[in-house]
Order: sequence, then structure tokens, then C-alpha cells
Amino acid sequence: EMSDRLNKPCYVFEKNDESRFLKEIRLEREVFKSVTEEQFILHYQPIVNQNQNRIVGFEALLRWDHPEFGMIPPNEFIPLLESTGLIVQVGYQTIKKACQQIKTWEQNGFNDIKMHVNLSVRQLFSEELVLQLENILAKEKINPKRLTIEITESMIMEDSDHFINMLDEIRKLGIEVSIDDFGTGYSALSYLTRLNVDSIKIDQSFVQQVGCGDKGDAVIKSIISLARHLDLNVIAEGVEEERHISFLLENECSEMQGFYFSKPLTEYEANQYLFTYHQKVSGNH
Ligand code: C2E
Ligand code: MG
Ligand code: MG
Ligand code: MG
Repeated sequence: EMSDRLNKPCYVFEKNDESRFLKEIRLEREVFKSVTEEQFILHYQPIVNQNQNRIVGFEALLRWDHPEFGMIPPNEFIPLLESTGLIVQVGYQTIKKACQQIKTWEQNGFNDIKMHVNLSVRQLFSEELVLQLENILAKEKINPKRLTIEITESMIMEDSDHFINMLDEIRKLGIEVSIDDFGTGYSALSYLTRLNVDSIKIDQSFVQQVGCGDKGDAVIKSIISLARHLDLNVIAEGVEEERHISFLLENECSEMQGFYFSKPLTEYEANQYLFTYHQKVSGNH
């Protein structure tokens, strides 16, 4: 083929770089359209209590269902949503969908399932956030305790006074707050004495070091113990192996999330997971 021959030098040298670059440009151009065409969807990853043998909740994880590139992971497009300011609108849609899902599960008899939603720094700086949350709770009529928002340590460091106030406002609505990727924010722990939160999520990098050396083990044990002393609930992320589970249970961390239990699921798959898990557990009695 003529065109094949013409394309060849390009293919040999830098096709991957070029196509990645072109993809980035395309995404940047299409991101506005994607919002109006509602190409953003949520996947849900279960969070289990391995001691009580039950599903505590799900974390809602955003995906861009692109007509040509397929499912695009958040790390590739969240920065784009942030820089264009679209994150405020997409974030609103995300919280709304997540709350509607809580309600649907409730209608199916699963009425103690929590939903975790990630917030980005731009959303926390948005004047509208508290009002948006208030509106959604009122409209969907769900118990605010069922909703947890996740923020990262590095976000808090940017302007701690602002965040302390913001998080207090959010918690006044009854919504819970969790610190995501805990331990990776290079932060001084002093913020923990000023900030009111409900839980922390131990970053997967700590969990994956379990059993790889005494130092790693000591760090994760200390995080769990710190959480307990601060009266915070603790969830371990990135649980992939049996040995992670036994270590966590020995150290009294029973809430876990990770590929060992399930990858993030579509809405349909999450429903299946709920029903199957429920049947399995009630079958034990
Ligand atoms: P995150 O909140 O820390 O989410 C956990 C990420 O770890 C997810 O990647 C999940 O698929 C992955 N993960 C879960 N279990 C395992 C495991 O056992 N092993 C490994 N290696 N990975 C695991 P995902 O879905 O690509 O999300 C990446 C990040 O994107 C999230 O990190 C979160 O910071 C951000 N994000 C996702 N959804 C949203 C959203 O709606 N809004 C905002 N602002 N950020 C979001
Ligand atoms: Mg998260
Ligand atoms: Mg995390
Ligand atoms: Mg993360």
C-alpha cells in the first residue's frame, strides 16, 4: 500500500509520542462537548468490612466514555476538567448521580450502603459547593450520613483556613469527610488537630509494602494507631493479596478496598456484586 509506505518513517520514529500528543489535543477540544453529551459515567468500587463480612459502601470513580478512545481513566482528564473549570459542573453531576445511586440501592433493600465521592481542589474553592450539596440532598432525599466526600492531604495544604471552614460547613450538612491517599501529602501532621474529619484512607503504596520490610510495616501500623487515637475510621486502599488482609486484620483495620475484592464496576456489575455478596452472607446463617 502506498499510504503504508508513506506512513512508515513516522511509525518507526515516534508514532506513540505523536498519537499520545494528538490524543491530548483531541481530548482538550472535545471536553466541552463531552459534558453536554454526558459522556462522563461512574464506576463503583466496593469497600468491605472484612471483620463483619459486609459491604460498607462503594467509591464512585469517574470515567470518560469516549466514542472513539473508549473508557478513559480519570488521571488523563481530571487535569483538563480542572484547567477549564468544567470540574465544577462535572463534579455536580457526579455527586448527583452518586446520590441517585444511593437511592436506587435503598429502593432495592440495601439501605446501609455508603457512597464515597472524590472532590478536586477547584470544587473545594468553589463558592457553590455547599449550596450544591444542600440542593442535591434535598432533592434526592437521602440520609446525608450515607454520603462521604474524599479529599487529599495536598489539597488541605494549599489554604488550610479555607478548607477547615469549608469542611466544617459540609459536615454541618451531615455529610462525612475522608482524607484520601493518607500519608502521601508530605504534610505536617499538625493539620489533624485543627481539621474535623471522619475517616482516613491509607494510600495503596503503604498497603502494597506490607511484608516487604520492617520499616514499611511499622509505618502502616502507626497510621492505623494514629487514626484510632484520633477516633477516626480507617480504610485501607489497594488491597490486592491475602497477606495484606491478614496483616490489616491483625492490626485492627477491618475496612478495605482493592482489586482483591473487586475492580471498579459498572452500575450493572455493582448491583450484581451487591446481590451476590448479600446472598452469600445470608446463606451462612
Ligand atoms: P483514588 O480516589 O485514590 O481512587 C483509587 C484508585 O485506585 C482508582 O483509580 C482505583 O481504580 C485504583 N485502585 C483500586 N483498587 C486498587 C488496587 O487494589 N490496586 C491498584 N493498583 N489500584 C487500585 P482510578 O479510578 O483510575 O482513579 C484515580 C484517581 O482519580 C482517584 O484516586 C481520584 O483521585 C481521581 N478521581 C476519580 N474519580 C474522581 C471524581 O469524580 N472527581 C475527582 N475530582 N477525582 C476523581
Ligand atoms: Mg478516592
Ligand atoms: Mg486513594
Ligand atoms: Mg489516588
